[in-house]
Amino acid sequence: MKIGFDLDKIFINTPPFIPSAVINKFYKARDNGVLLYRIPHVPEQLLRKALHTPILRQPIKDNFAILQRLANDKENKLYLISSRFKFLEPETQRLIKKYKFDEIFDKLYFNYNNDQPHEFKNNVLQKLNLDIFIDDDLSLVRYVAKHNPDTTFYWLDEHAKAVKFDNNITAAKNLEEIFKKIIS
Ligand SMILES: [Mg+2]
Repeated sequence: MKIGFDLDKIFINTPPFIPSAVINKFYKARDNGVLLYRIPHVPEQLLRKALHTPILRQPIKDNFAILQRLANDKENKLYLISSRFKFLEPETQRLIKKYKFDEIFDKLYFNYNNDQPHEFKNNVLQKLNLDIFIDDDLSLVRYVAKHNPDTTFYWLDEHAKAVKFDNNITAAKNLEEIFKKIIS
């Protein structure tokens, strides 16, 4: 199976004391319901870099465990597709080293050209033609799902009920819920 994963909030947690509403404010600028992400200016980039200090970005261990089991099956092709911007490249490279992402995944994709995240991911997804893609950003998932009808999308959210709520989108709490049937 060809499986793609987002990075943040799938394998790496956001800082625990910041509500996700605030994180979303950082990341998104909404205008008339059109999906639009902000690329921050330098002072905010510095703040955002500080918020990517390893101590504030703990691994999501249960999801890592499932990832490792998927990687052990050589039939699987695994891809990490993260829309992290260029200014986070040093922090991101450190993460890759620390968690050996380059050994676990067949290929890593990062948005170092600073494209709009949903467009960046859509371009990668159209190229890869995945069986499954998993992301925690519901508005982004809705966008890419529309453009990639043959891919099954999972919206990962710890409070989500496992329901299929769009043609090719299913909600799930964690990776185990998605893959328990496959890796029994
Ligand atoms: Mg994410």
